[in-house]
Amino acid sequence: LVSRRRKPENTVITIKGTKIGNGEPQFVFGPCSVESYQQTAKVAESLQEKGLKLLRGGAFKPRTSPYDFQGLGEEGLRILKKIADTYDLAVISEIVAPEDIEKAAEYLDVIQIGARNMQNFELLKAAGDVKKPILLKRGMSSTISEFIHAAEYISSRGNNDIILCERGIRTYETATRNTLDITAVPILKQETHLPVMVDVTHSTGRRDLLLPAAKAALAIGADGIMAEVHPDPAVALSDAAQQMDLPRFDAFYRDLIAHSSYA
Ligand code: PEP
Ligand code: MN
Repeated sequence: LVSRRRKPENTVITIKGTKIGNGEPQFVFGPCSVESYQQTAKVAESLQEKGLKLLRGGAFKPRTSPYDFQGLGEEGLRILKKIADTYDLAVISEIVAPEDIEKAAEYLDVIQIGARNMQNFELLKAAGDVKKPILLKRGMSSTISEFIHAAEYISSRGNNDIILCERGIRTYETATRNTLDITAVPILKQETHLPVMVDVTHSTGRRDLLLPAAKAALAIGADGIMAEVHPDPAVALSDAAQQMDLPRFDAFYRDLIAHSSYA
């Protein structure tokens, strides 16, 4: 169902009036984790200033260690909903349990399925049963074919509003957190009709690489960019080393727009 051979034209997904996949790049920015209303609101203000519409923030965090911050859970979703209403933004957050998907749809504009859950088939089926766009991230050890099959799980249940997100894969390279598989973008665009985004934060894990990686992603045909922004990264409860602070975010966005051929 997601194959380009079956449907030659691009799927365009409309999220609260913002179109993804129509040739104009879109941007998803926000903190790794929703930590409080105030913390997330500061990022929301910065998006509003730039005329940006899509805010991300984790409420259920799939952490490597059980002793690390696990997210605010449903309280995080409530904060996101309040931010969405106050700042007229669309909000995106990861859901990790199939039984939470329906409830989450009441708070969120896009439901994210994270890299660690790309082959959680019960979660994919639940995502396929809900009437909400899904942002599906590539598993860190998944092939492109496996990624496409995961999207097919969602589509096969009747939900065709799927955004694919390349977020880097595991390789032997240690200079970056993951290895950004940049050619996955045109391959996914050739093989499927779905919009493709690139998460430059989790793929690189390095602030100094966010801008060049984002430029490369747009140059190679990505429909959008995701990156993490936090008002005070040094005290962030997750991913402190790689989130941009607000001044850095301003410069990043200005440079990205100035250098993109869409400007
Ligand atoms: C995230 O986007 O918050 C996240 C945890 O990313 P990934 O699933 O790609 O690791
Ligand atoms: Mn993160």
